Amino acid sequence: MNVNLKLKQYINGEWVDANSENTRTIINPFNQETIAIVPEGDETDTKAAIAAAREAFDHGEWPTTPATERGAIVRKIAEFIERDKEELAYLESLDTGKTVEESRGDMDDIAGVFRYYAEVADKNGGEIIDSPVPNSISKVVHEPVGVCGQITPWNYPLLQASWKLAPALATGNTLIMKPSEITPLTHIKVFELIEEAGVPAGVANLVLGSGATVGAELSSNEDVDLISFTGGIVTGKKIMQAASSNVKKLALELGGKNPNVIFADADFDLAVDQALNGVFFHAGQICSAGTRLIVEESIHDEFVNALVERVKKFKLGSGFDEDTQMGPLISAEHLAKVEKYVEAGVEEGATLAVGGKRPEDPELQNGFFFLPTIFTDCTTDMTVVQEEGFGPVITVEKFTKEEEAVKLANDSIYGLAGGVFTNDIAKAERCAAKMRMGTVWINEFNLYFPHAPWGGYKQSGIGRELGKLGIEEYTETKHIFQNLKPEQINWF
Ligand code: NAD
Repeated sequence: MNVNLKLKQYINGEWVDANSENTRTIINPFNQETIAIVPEGDETDTKAAIAAAREAFDHGEWPTTPATERGAIVRKIAEFIERDKEELAYLESLDTGKTVEESRGDMDDIAGVFRYYAEVADKNGGEIIDSPVPNSISKVVHEPVGVCGQITPWNYPLLQASWKLAPALATGNTLIMKPSEITPLTHIKVFELIEEAGVPAGVANLVLGSGATVGAELSSNEDVDLISFTGGIVTGKKIMQAASSNVKKLALELGGKNPNVIFADADFDLAVDQALNGVFFHAGQICSAGTRLIVEESIHDEFVNALVERVKKFKLGSGFDEDTQMGPLISAEHLAKVEKYVEAGVEEGATLAVGGKRPEDPELQNGFFFLPTIFTDCTTDMTVVQEEGFGPVITVEKFTKEEEAVKLANDSIYGLAGGVFTNDIAKAERCAAKMRMGTVWINEFNLYFPHAPWGGYKQSGIGRELGKLGIEEYTETKHIFQNLKPEQINWF
């Protein structure tokens, strides 16, 4: 596919190179070929974008534009994403290596997120509340937060961006977006669509560059009112510290080590299928991947055998081949991290049931491929059970009692998501109530939609994206009290 992309940053309504004129080469993780050369912005570009966003917020019309009008512009962005879906899906697969079928699904979801926030934009009005003071009016109104810094990861580049861009624009904020430096392509494309939809200059800015420069400036700069970050826990902690400079509002979507509890009375084939989908989509590079399988002892062996048989047949390859089920990992660096993580599992005594290494097929040698991997005989003290590996790796633990399953599921610093498979609805509800996670799926895994909030308990993050709570992240709440019959107090 021939895509005509601007390959520039978007600052104050202009498509610009990096101030330093530095560039970064973007490579295809399937074969390491160069797919694009983009500007490598730094603190100077970031400061220019922040100044533009500050000016657009403090003196521009966007924050006070009627919400219905902002909603109409956000709806146009959704329509343009649907119009350019094939191009966007192509770019996302080129940049991340994921199958183009997955990327098409992502684009549908992304358009859905923009549509959802277009619809709720004008339904976030204030309310009159009961005042205990006679002859008074007491009202609560919602206003945009201000200048928002937004930082996204490489695993679901545009999807994660849409969860931030759509609610921020709908509620009248101005923003600076920084994508992961290794996956900027769909962000660039969507900023072309934001411009085409008529978002005024300065309102939405795109700066390309590394976390240490652009990301750190966005998190610490005192002209930024809110920082919304999706990424790893180590970076999240740094951002939290940097954001204390001016006590920014903070939204953090961090990692997960998500349990999937399989009871013996579950629909066996459904649970096997969903356990695989729960982990191996996008080669396990999903924050909510159900990497910790917790299986009732009586079905453990049969369940593991069924998983292994299916995993052995996975077709690895180019995201653009129709029969490919799993693509490569994102980078050489990430592949090395996953290899080390698997080595730690072996050293700590877990049993490799399948995988555990790079594939040997000659046609996959230029890509960052790793075989789908299952570890059995796992215990909660193992690194592979506790740490987020972010690769195609499942660990399997056993349980005999319901309370034990819940205890294992909760034995983590993370609390992003989890699943329960059983045909006993009361048992499922009991487990869901006790699982300390932002999302619990029953007889399902990895399903989400824009209407429901997404975010983590414990160290998986702060705040919620999506749903009505996703709007609240981007609004301040103000109480306005008016005395209709003011009287002097005469105290002093
Ligand atoms: P990462 O933390 O390495 O990078 C994420 C972003 O932060 C990138 O844009 C990066 O450039 C930037 N960054 C790096 N250092 C920075 C700094 N000091 N200051 C400011 N910004 C900085 O994460 P990643 O490897 O790109 O993504 C994978 C991680 O993202 C996983 O841990 C995954 O669980 C998490 N994730 C979470 C969710 C969620 O919804 N909770 C969704 C997707 C991914």
